[in-house]
Amino acid sequence: KKILCVVGTRPEAIKMAPVILALKEQAWADVSVLATAQHRHMLDQVLQFFGIVPDRDLDVMRPNQSLTELTARLLVGAGEALDSEKPDVVLIQGDTTTVMAVAMAAFYRQIPLGHVEAGLRTGNIFNPFPEEANRLIAGHLAQWHFAPTESSRANLLRENISPDRIDVTGNTVIDALLDTAGRDLALGVPLPPHERLVLVTAHRRENFGEPFRRVCRAILHLAQTNPDVCFLYPVHPNPNVKNVAESILAGVPNILLCPPLDYAPFVAAMKKAYIILSDSGGVQEEAPALGKPVLVLRHETERPEAVAEGVVKLVGTDFDAIVTGAQRLLDDPRAYAAMARGVSPYGDGKAASRIVARLARDLL
Ligand code: UDP
Repeated sequence: KKILCVVGTRPEAIKMAPVILALKEQAWADVSVLATAQHRHMLDQVLQFFGIVPDRDLDVMRPNQSLTELTARLLVGAGEALDSEKPDVVLIQGDTTTVMAVAMAAFYRQIPLGHVEAGLRTGNIFNPFPEEANRLIAGHLAQWHFAPTESSRANLLRENISPDRIDVTGNTVIDALLDTAGRDLALGVPLPPHERLVLVTAHRRENFGEPFRRVCRAILHLAQTNPDVCFLYPVHPNPNVKNVAESILAGVPNILLCPPLDYAPFVAAMKKAYIILSDSGGVQEEAPALGKPVLVLRHETERPEAVAEGVVKLVGTDFDAIVTGAQRLLDDPRAYAAMARGVSPYGDGKAASRIVARLARDLL
């Protein structure tokens, strides 16, 4: 059976890599990989790390491209790729514009679609950022829904997706993480000899502007009041992020700004971190598995499981909430221990094999 796996951005590549590698071990699966390159450099380094070479590459990014242009380019490009590859199944992962457009292109051709990381919902479709709509569209066009958790399954059932199309597999991000964290990792960034490290990632579009400025001011304040703690922030190249982060945080001795880290060094940084401040979806899933408390710099999340478990907290983007939340973890060992329990609601590292087993059952 010909299976086309699609990857557009860094997190898609990280989370699809275990599925691609597991499928490649199956004699019945003829696997090909379509990269749309919605992220260029960050996608390439992940694929290289996992030893995956795309069979096709749409290279869709153009400077200052609107979401409309991006979607149009993806639809046309993915359509051409599907017409020439003629896969039996298309697999997509997550909630990017790539996912939505490829889902549409496969649907127009009536090619069965599998959605990895299905059923995540904020419940807020009127948020102007496209992820929730992307998830909904992909979700309603898919034949297989690989839900990471029971609550993502429940979201799908509420939308009248048939139960026999849903498998709770865990999130493949844990497969990738456990595989990577078990290797001999080098951080590659020289850290000052501070006792504790706070790792920061923040580049979500919904925080651009004043919310992101408040996040940076809170980090600056925390760094100034905790000179014994080192803050490491791999800064996303988007000018809305880079310019603000550099203008507020550059030149502070215990704040280290660096370009985005490759995946393995980033996992090394998570392992070294005492706490993590992040607005990333993937980091919210990875950190609990490594026993690292995360303060999420957002007001809502489509990943409520770790919040319910008490190992991730939503602090939003208010200065006081971030400072108070982080300071408490730095000062109060009991509050820290309660969040650093190493409990992961997102999987056991075997999600990819469950996905492969379900596909084999239905296709063979
Ligand atoms: N990540 C990385 N290098 C970094 C920051 C993050 O490799 O400098 C990884 C991280 O381990 C996670 C993924 O990128 O798996 C998260 O990507 P991002 O925050 O861009 O997207 P989201 O998860 O919010 O969709």
